[in-house]
Amino acid sequence: MNQDKTLTCKDCGVEFIFSASEQDFYAEKGFTNEPGRCPECRAARKQANNNGGRGNNYQQREMHEAVCAECGITTQVPFRPSGDRPVYCRDCFSKINHR
Ligand SMILES: [Zn+2]
Ligand SMILES: [Zn+2]
Repeated sequence: MNQDKTLTCKDCGVEFIFSASEQDFYAEKGFTNEPGRCPECRAARKQANNNGGRGNNYQQREMHEAVCAECGITTQVPFRPSGDRPVYCRDCFSKINHR
């Protein structure tokens, strides 16, 4: 018969209860290790992983092909060209902005 255990979180050092029912759950799942972290730290780590995934996706901006209205080269822009406004390549864009 399992009994509630008091464990210490290895992240924040707080003591937390590893309850008898949780121990049963762990045994059922075949986990041999006791949880090393308190529920808050486990949730925080999960959250951090989720954010990391979203952060990586954010890096991959969708690029659209457009023809520069100034020099005519094909360029990539991070927005969908609407057609009612000229699109410039990076070089021409900075030139025009410094006129
Ligand atoms: Zn903790
Ligand atoms: Zn250009």
